[in-house]
Amino acid sequence: MDSSLPSETPTAASTVTPGLERPQYLLELDVNYTAKTARVHEVITYPNWTGETLNNLVLAVEPNLWSGGFSLASATANGQPVTNYTIENMNQRLEMQLPQPLPPSATLTLELYYSLVLPQMQAYVNASNDIRPQIYGYSDKQVNFVDWYPMIVPYIPGQGWVLHNPWYYGEHLVYDLADFDVTVIFPGGANPKVAASGEEVPPLPTTTPEGIVHHRYLLEAGRTFALSMSEHFKIAQQTIGDVTVYSYYFGLYDAPGEAMLQTTVEAIQTYSQYFGPYRHKTMTAVQGDFNDGMEYSGLYFISRDYFNLYDGTPKNYLVIIAAHETAHQWWFDAVANDQALEPWLDEALSTYSERIYYESVHPDMLDWWWGYRYFEFQNAGYVDTSIYDGGGQRPYWDKVYLTGARFFEDLRKDVGDEIFFRFLKDYYTQSAGKRVTGADFFRVFHANTAADITDLLVQYFKNTY
Ligand SMILES: [Zn+2]
Repeated sequence: MDSSLPSETPTAASTVTPGLERPQYLLELDVNYTAKTARVHEVITYPNWTGETLNNLVLAVEPNLWSGGFSLASATANGQPVTNYTIENMNQRLEMQLPQPLPPSATLTLELYYSLVLPQMQAYVNASNDIRPQIYGYSDKQVNFVDWYPMIVPYIPGQGWVLHNPWYYGEHLVYDLADFDVTVIFPGGANPKVAASGEEVPPLPTTTPEGIVHHRYLLEAGRTFALSMSEHFKIAQQTIGDVTVYSYYFGLYDAPGEAMLQTTVEAIQTYSQYFGPYRHKTMTAVQGDFNDGMEYSGLYFISRDYFNLYDGTPKNYLVIIAAHETAHQWWFDAVANDQALEPWLDEALSTYSERIYYESVHPDMLDWWWGYRYFEFQNAGYVDTSIYDGGGQRPYWDKVYLTGARFFEDLRKDVGDEIFFRFLKDYYTQSAGKRVTGADFFRVFHANTAADITDLLVQYFKNTY
């Protein structure tokens, strides 16, 4: 998958599914909306494009970070029971020994049955007052399924499985590209509105004579499939070209809910023009009942706090963060990176994309954006900082997001608009669907210009590129 995908159709083993480029996730999520529990049937069809024979698999199981949050009932690999596996209480790592080794180019079908007990959403605070907001779980008016299913983590030949530890701030997961076919079932009369990463496909929500509601969603070539449910959602939508954009917000928030929709539409148009086309059929923005914004594939959340602060103009964090989270569809979903070790690749570029949004859509507010976004800004350190050496949440943001955006501004000044935007488009075109590193980023940059940026690299980066 990703950059290591061979161009010819593999024929090496009998288990090959012809033409399977990337993993497929078939998920049936049976939600007990009252009890805040779920049962899941998951089938992962995993083509081994690592070039190595795999004897084990490592899956990220985020629901198991909560005690009792995840219970595996059964697992089979190509029909054979998987009995040798380890998963520790309150640990995300599920390691399975395969009953048979999986040769290069062969395909594995992993079938799992498990149950989930959702945690109540709450923010975690460490000794330094760093707040890790919790998005997965339920509040009194929202249920969020994010990183809710076991996911086979990327495998880097020669290095192994890529699964980093969670941290108080920043994201730690790294994703391969995958296709998703997700069915959500509500037995027992519950029928909340559902915001989802994918496109809802017919038959549109069906209710059986027994009162069971089914929804089915498809997402092609995404990173992660998120769902948000609420009986309190209102929905606004708009179509641009062949993309439908949705805004899910709570009642009494019509003005910010519409502003979230409008900003997302404008941002998709802006980024499509400057970077390249949006890759999915739907884009869904959701008001989160927690304190943060967060990106997923084809879906993002914006904090309830930014809704409360909305003042009817584009000069506020609701619009800034909507432009930022929309940019993550280019820099996170399409062009993926190691979010824990090289977060600048998606965060600095998504922050700088806010600048491109304002200069394109609200040019008279560009100076305001620089001033407002940087009001607390300190030139705190290197852009290529990992989440683990950020030195606290605010310094981490200052380094990766804001110093990162300043780096992009200086880079643009150095080479001029024409080369800068030609480079961004080329970088997106070459990298969409792949996972990139800082070295890839600068390789594409240098292919677009002979400009010497040594001074900038020394000023902003601790690694040598
Ligand atoms: Zn971000």
